[in-house]
Amino acid sequence: MVADLAPAIAALRDARRLVVLTGAGVSTESGVPDFRGASGIWTTFDPRDFEYDRLLRDPAGFWALRKRLMDALDLASARPNAAHRAIAAASASPRFLGHVTQNIDGLFHEAGHAPNLVEAHGSARTVRCLSCARFFPFDPALLATIPPRCASCGGILKPGTILFGEPLHAPDLRRAEAWARQCDAMLVVGTSLVVHPIAALPEVALDAGAALVIVNEDPTTYDARADAVVRGKAGAVVPELVGGF
Ligand code: NAD
Repeated sequence: MVADLAPAIAALRDARRLVVLTGAGVSTESGVPDFRGASGIWTTFDPRDFEYDRLLRDPAGFWALRKRLMDALDLASARPNAAHRAIAAASASPRFLGHVTQNIDGLFHEAGHAPNLVEAHGSARTVRCLSCARFFPFDPALLATIPPRCASCGGILKPGTILFGEPLHAPDLRRAEAWARQCDAMLVVGTSLVVHPIAALPEVALDAGAALVIVNEDPTTYDARADAVVRGKAGAVVPELVGGF
């Protein structure tokens, strides 16, 4: 056991209702860049280009940039790392209440996560038709025509992810908030905790009396209120923390 993990291990050891909250930092060791880290996506792209209104106003311009963003994320080459695998293995435990991820890369599914997973910002592995609302698997071949169109009705497709300016799916948010209220420990990994409403979940857990453990390479807004903060890489730290579940 690494010495400075002791407070985090102690805070999680007796948890009976663990909730995990993850962000893009969990997947950087799988080769997927995050948004706000040192080599994050927003160092080369402008977030305003990916707003929901932009898609409605200028679908061809939106999708041309979205294609470049998808190329930069290169999700097709990414595989789950030790942190994904450890959380997925722990998710089957009766002591593991649920997991809210902001990630859109599908790597927790690929790692065999139990159904107690909310992908709060949707999935880049799907697209949805703006006209008939049907979901389809995302296939890069769809981008041979820009903007891509629905095979069923010809409507314009939207990424299966939640875009800026678009509300989260209400049932997902309700499930995530209920877990945060009910948990007795929350483990937060690889998120800068600035994107709302998900960034408010640690507050809900703290108000409910839960222990809060944060694993992140950079400081977060909740560090001062956490029971333990581990400054390190998710792939090395997380298996040590949830391996016993
Ligand atoms: P963020 O980029 O704002 O923050 C990521 C945090 O993770 C940073 O503070 C960084 O210091 C930390 N980090 C980076 N690598 C780490 C590692 N190996 N171990 C521990 N910490 C590490 O990401 P966020 O808070 O998740 O922002 C939310 C938005 O980012 C979401 O909307 C999400 O959809 C999107 N996003 C997802 C992916 C993905 O699915 N993999 C990739 C990029 C962005």
